[in-house]
Amino acid sequence: MRRICCGQQVQPSGDEATMTGYCDSCDEHSDRLFDISRLPEFKPVVQKFNYRHVCQTCYDDLLEESKNPWDMEEERRGEERRPAQLEVHLSGTNREGKTFSEITTTEDVSRNGLCVMTKQDLDVGSVLKLEVSGSDFEGTAIVEIMWKETTARKAGLKIVDQSAIWERLLAGKGIL
Ligand SMILES: [Zn+2]
Repeated sequence: MRRICCGQQVQPSGDEATMTGYCDSCDEHSDRLFDISRLPEFKPVVQKFNYRHVCQTCYDDLLEESKNPWDMEEERRGEERRPAQLEVHLSGTNREGKTFSEITTTEDVSRNGLCVMTKQDLDVGSVLKLEVSGSDFEGTAIVEIMWKETTARKAGLKIVDQSAIWERLLAGKGIL
């Protein structure tokens, strides 16, 4: 029996797959129970549900569940974030429908996005013009997420054009 684990095919070790008994997850009897308590990828599942021996079906389901969808998404996009303070010029329309122009600073950046401080209340999905001070980058960004704290707001922006220039800019500054 072969299982897929972290993109690699893994052969269960002999003692792992020879137990007979009841599955802790679905309570069905099985003559192939897996001891998940010693497998690092199941640590959150073991802690959360206190499962120890599970059948093949539950093993596969729990393995899928134990993967954090955000981590997977970031991995897929290669979106590693690095702390960086770049001065940027944002302009567009805020939630009240007023046009604005603001010089602000990034908190972190990735190959296709950035997190910036902003005084504006912005709608998720709104399109902004983005320039980086002292560079030739002038592109478009979409608001993906807004964080509102009592004293400051932050916006997570995704670069939607000129991404090659953006990447070159970050590489040139030694950030990515
Ligand atoms: Zn089961």
